Amino acid sequence: MSSLTGMRPGAAGTADVTACRADFPALAQDINGYPLVYLDSAASSQVPMAVIDEIARYQSHDHANVHRGVHTLSHRATEVYENARTALQRFINASRREEIVFTRGTTESINLVAQSFCRPKLRQGDRILITHLEHHSNIVPWQMVCEQTGAELVVAPIDDRGDVSPDSVVALMDERVRLLAVAHVSNALGTVLPVRELAAAAHARDITVLVDGAQAVPHMPVDVQALGADFYAFSGHKMFGPTGTGVLYGREELLDAMPPYQGGGDMILEVRFDGTTYNELPYKFEAGTPNISGAAGLAAAVAYLEAIGMNLIAEHERQLLDYLTNKLAEVEGIRLLGMAPVKASVQSFLLDDIHPHDLGTILDHQGVAIRTGHHCAMPVMDRFGIPGTARASLGLYNNRADVDALTAALEKAREIFG
Ligand code: PLP
Repeated sequence: MSSLTGMRPGAAGTADVTACRADFPALAQDINGYPLVYLDSAASSQVPMAVIDEIARYQSHDHANVHRGVHTLSHRATEVYENARTALQRFINASRREEIVFTRGTTESINLVAQSFCRPKLRQGDRILITHLEHHSNIVPWQMVCEQTGAELVVAPIDDRGDVSPDSVVALMDERVRLLAVAHVSNALGTVLPVRELAAAAHARDITVLVDGAQAVPHMPVDVQALGADFYAFSGHKMFGPTGTGVLYGREELLDAMPPYQGGGDMILEVRFDGTTYNELPYKFEAGTPNISGAAGLAAAVAYLEAIGMNLIAEHERQLLDYLTNKLAEVEGIRLLGMAPVKASVQSFLLDDIHPHDLGTILDHQGVAIRTGHHCAMPVMDRFGIPGTARASLGLYNNRADVDALTAALEKAREIFG
């Protein structure tokens, strides 16, 4: 079993990342003859040994199906799974563990709300309000439920810096709006949205608030109660946990009133051919055998993050993002996209007229992993009149040497493309 080395405050109170990098075995490899520089954590983060070990431990010793089992392994598996729920509750400060629903990720969490909360409620002429910078996962489920109900999707604008002005969102909150669905942090632009302010304005008008927290949870402390989120969705694989895991947080009162999303085992109390009674929260929304080893791994990821401290991580990344943005700005021919005043962990850019995919490939030849394309945010690309961007995104394990390697690789790309 590896122990957590983790970041420790350095002399200036900043995080010492060097120690933490050693916890991530995937980072210690060469790619195309160069040491890997991983700048794609917004797509999926790497996994620390503590998480890998916990999954192996669970699978080797405790695995069985959860709930209702009378034998020891089933008890153990249930304990692992339910302890994970409690860990997630604490991590985002939900008031009750029943408010944590395990899902496959942000996408499934948002679809659950669209189909189970919105679909039965929405009528012709009702509105769902989103912003222009949303990920497709926070657009398409709403389009689908609008098609099903005759409701309308309304989009608040972003400005040239990729920022969202609260006034422009609030201006669209009329009496027809039933739900506000906004990203906490934009995956394409890095913009941090004023979620607390938007939620307060929405609640004053009886509008329910869903926050897409996929890009926030790995990078900053998240307190769902302080934010005023009615629903908060996030993915395990972006927060150093396993793929196929995620959470929908929902206020108990809302979840309680919602019908189940899927039917099957575990979500029922009693099944008869003349009618079925559903299980209590949160099981009503967890039909079928859940991803138990995934939940074990996700709980280990939470423990890992808590041991380092989310405030420390946020400060480390704030400083590193400043460094990244400034270093990129020095590269000749660069165009930076997403320059909102409050940002987290992401910088999008274009270099000369090199296609982002070609740039990404040249960088990969030098061991530097970035993301290129529309980042599942095509409306953002349309807003800026471009097909896509190159995007460098940070995780707690990145350091200045990674940024220097990126800018050196970009200089080389300029030489190659002449
Ligand atoms: N929302 C945002 C802001 C994202 O960045 C992503 C993934 O990139 C998602 C939603 C979808 O997450 P997942 O594919 O894990 O469901």
